[in-house]
Amino acid sequence: METFLGIDLGGTKLLIGEVDAEGHILREKRYPSTFRDQRDAKDYIFRAIDDYLVTVANPLCKPMAMGLGLVGRVDTERGIWEQIDPSRTFPIEMARELTERYRLPAYIDNDVKSATRAELHWGVGRFSRNFVFINVGTGIAACSVVNGQLIRGSHFNAGEVGHTTVGVNMGTTCACGRKNCVETIAAGCGFDICARLLRERYETRLTIPEDGKRVSVKEVYELSLQGDALCEMLVKNAAEALASLIMNLVRVTDPDTVVLGGSVVADGYLLEQMRPFLQAETMRFVTNGVQLTKLEPHHIGLLGAAVVAMNGKI
Ligand SMILES: [Zn+2]
Repeated sequence: METFLGIDLGGTKLLIGEVDAEGHILREKRYPSTFRDQRDAKDYIFRAIDDYLVTVANPLCKPMAMGLGLVGRVDTERGIWEQIDPSRTFPIEMARELTERYRLPAYIDNDVKSATRAELHWGVGRFSRNFVFINVGTGIAACSVVNGQLIRGSHFNAGEVGHTTVGVNMGTTCACGRKNCVETIAAGCGFDICARLLRERYETRLTIPEDGKRVSVKEVYELSLQGDALCEMLVKNAAEALASLIMNLVRVTDPDTVVLGGSVVADGYLLEQMRPFLQAETMRFVTNGVQLTKLEPHHIGLLGAAVVAMNGKI
């Protein structure tokens, strides 16, 4: 059987697994991930793959290739992981190092672009050549697919739409230097930023940690359903902001489908809260609507990494 080794590095976890050519996950193991910079992360990834190959992988079925989905900016053509963010830039020839260490063809891509490639291969790509995949997790990023091609840009930096403003102005300051970026309102980091900003103005039972941890989006949703004033406001702002972002992206590339993935939207609650803000005329050509990914939200990154392994550099 042909299998592919997928490695999905997110902000808080590293998932490694073997996937067959039909997209079935045969085996997998999750590793917690904390890293300061790319060198840290590289060592961590290598140790985790070493462990996986010894403790989980089927020794009788060597994968055909390996694919790695990485946070940050990735040069897919040269196989170079350019940076996590502008403050953490240390280009690493990941594809070459992986190939030499594991004696397997290795390819890399950005994590959201990898997830989009999973959609293109096994998800909405089966009926759509023009869609937008939006990942709403710790931050927000999107990938537009136009005529079956991913938009990557001149520096592999297309799709950083979390750093656009959408008319919901909370007075938040973003790490990128702008104010009111949509991810400071509607992503995991945004729920935390806005909870701290609004906590004096609204009654709440929400736990707001003081130890550097972020508020739990799941708890925000639960309390919002119970009528908690602060949490209701956080959800409304996030829903309006995300709906505006979607409508802006729809106006740019004219997709027939919008797909959402990522931990903040995985349970479907925010999507339902968002629908009233989606204006019918703007959305009229999005004939397949706004939908949650049908690929399992917690595994789409791993599936994407497997597609990166299967398809190589494209
Ligand atoms: Zn920003």
